[in-house]
Amino acid sequence: MGGLSQTTAAPLTTDQLLGLDDSHLDSLAGGHRLQKAAANAFAALCEDARKAGFEPAIASSYRSFDRQLAIFNAKASGARIVHDDDGAIVVMEALSPVQQLHAILRFSALPGTSRHHWGTDLDIYDLKAVPVDYAVQLTPQEVSTGGVFDPFHCWLDERIALEQSHGFFRPYALDRGGVSPERWHLSYAPLSRSCDRRLDAAMLREVWQAMPGGAELALQDLVSAELDNLLERYVRIPADWCPRG
Ligand SMILES: [Zn+2]
Repeated sequence: MGGLSQTTAAPLTTDQLLGLDDSHLDSLAGGHRLQKAAANAFAALCEDARKAGFEPAIASSYRSFDRQLAIFNAKASGARIVHDDDGAIVVMEALSPVQQLHAILRFSALPGTSRHHWGTDLDIYDLKAVPVDYAVQLTPQEVSTGGVFDPFHCWLDERIALEQSHGFFRPYALDRGGVSPERWHLSYAPLSRSCDRRLDAAMLREVWQAMPGGAELALQDLVSAELDNLLERYVRIPADWCPRG
């Protein structure tokens, strides 16, 4: 078992790519949603993990455009805390708008550009490693050496290296100066490997300019002016993040 399974699923429509349409998703326990092939592969990965003594759980799977917009805007307005690489709280008022934008994008995507829109990506942890009342935070501390979820991720690293991870790989394994390394984030490569390249600036500007209910993207002028650079730095992942299937 393992390796990269081929899939016959149709490519996502533009609305599905942008998190505006969720009709391509299956429902999982706990209110989570993924594309069917990704859900089946994750079930197989979980079965292997249980045999190794872990109990994988999903912290986040599909996330809509509207949800991502709310997260981004709340961080820009100060209603939601922004952390730095060390887990410290960023004092947003002390930053210029450009600095604020990069502080947000280090951990949160622009609406329309999140990999969580596609139904192929998920954030996971090990239920067995923590007490039942533990509040999972998905911090670098939790997943790095000595952290509660480090053993589970070391096991996953081995499975990935052996290409026995049922098609799941880590798009944010390395710090490329864009999104912070996120060891908890897995992506089902057979369906997701080329999605980031389909996003382009014109497509996103169009969506942000015509949001229902008069909703606005925070920092929109700055985002729009810098968009090509932002897509390159924070959205596109070099092709070697997963093996070619
Ligand atoms: Zn994630």
